[in-house]
Amino acid sequence: MEVLDQKKRLCNSFFSDHSMSVWFNSLLFLFLLGLTTSGDGKISTLGEEPDWSELDVFQNSCTRAQFLGKLKKIYSPREKWWAPWIQVKKQEARIRKKANSEDWYILKFFEEIKQDEINTFGQGKKKSIRKIALDPGHIGGIYSEMEGRHFCIEGGPVVKEGGLSLRVARRIKELLVKKGLEVFLVREKEEPVTEKRPADFDSLAKDWLKGLNLDGIPEEEIKKLLTKRKEILFYRVSEIRARARLINEEIRPDLVICLHLNAAPWKNPDQIELVERNDYHLLVNGCYMGGELAFDDQRFELLFRLLNGWDETERVLAEDLSRSFKKKSGLPAFRYHGPNAVKVGSVPGVWGRNLLANRIYRCPVVFLEPYVANSQQMYNRIQMGDYRGHRLIGDRKLLSLVEEYAQAVVGGLHIQIQQAE
Ligand SMILES: [Zn+2]
Repeated sequence: MEVLDQKKRLCNSFFSDHSMSVWFNSLLFLFLLGLTTSGDGKISTLGEEPDWSELDVFQNSCTRAQFLGKLKKIYSPREKWWAPWIQVKKQEARIRKKANSEDWYILKFFEEIKQDEINTFGQGKKKSIRKIALDPGHIGGIYSEMEGRHFCIEGGPVVKEGGLSLRVARRIKELLVKKGLEVFLVREKEEPVTEKRPADFDSLAKDWLKGLNLDGIPEEEIKKLLTKRKEILFYRVSEIRARARLINEEIRPDLVICLHLNAAPWKNPDQIELVERNDYHLLVNGCYMGGELAFDDQRFELLFRLLNGWDETERVLAEDLSRSFKKKSGLPAFRYHGPNAVKVGSVPGVWGRNLLANRIYRCPVVFLEPYVANSQQMYNRIQMGDYRGHRLIGDRKLLSLVEEYAQAVVGGLHIQIQQAE
């Protein structure tokens, strides 16, 4: 096949959506920090006030050491992040139920003396994996440009993450169904799951705008901000919340696998060229930062996940999947350097981050970010489309990208499936 010129200009933007990039300027960044208030508390955008009594079933279920270990190692590695919200006493944890209030949820610890009995914490509840929901990242189709998950090289076909992730999901489903698993696709088409559209968020976006200091910002820029805010509320917040309802209320799976392809920020957004970097990583839920823990619903979700012991299931699965991606793709594992991610476990490529999807889907969630789609290597492979068997590319025989991705996932789940059988 024709080797593409690295210097060819790209006609659109594509960036790493899960790590903040050059695409967002500082004002746009505020979109993601938007919040609504509820009483005295603080609730994330389009979120709901938590029902703290849902934690009652976890009374006396874990020891102080287990609770503190998970909190520090996985869920919130810096004490100054959680200290205003969670107090760990000798016999109980006190969790502030609402921001700006002294209303605390009291979680009693299991007594340390009965240590032998508690070794089953998190394991007793571990279910075998029979039912899997595959969540193809983004929407794709006519929405891909709005989502910023879209690029093309002049004259070349458009690369859409939402379309690629759906093809990968369909192939994984085929392979897993053959192994006797029950598999659901959270999205079957390049269409949104949410029934809302950007126009539905007009008044919410205007309210949000009122809370910003826009002195000196030209009218034209303010209009752009308003449009972008409405779009993000649609394609990210409302869309993921709609998927969460489908997963939590209808599918009720044992595991969700979120399928994405990563992208690296452009070196120079004004003169875009494909990047050299190509790698993989996987995310589990964790690393709630101070600003995030200020939200009542996020604090609740942290506790709910920790007490369910899902961190352990997520780590084991993510480690198996990481080994499988390394073997199948031969790529290096990506490493985070910023404060927004925490290293989980000892297998390279597995990190904890607090994302909307891996926080609000109520079961273990593994979030996959293999391949850098805007790298020279991956762009060439994406252009080759889906094909059967291997093709010689350079000096390597390679499967199609979709096939390799799907086989890496199924290979990584193999041990878990066998254990469930
Ligand atoms: Zn993505």
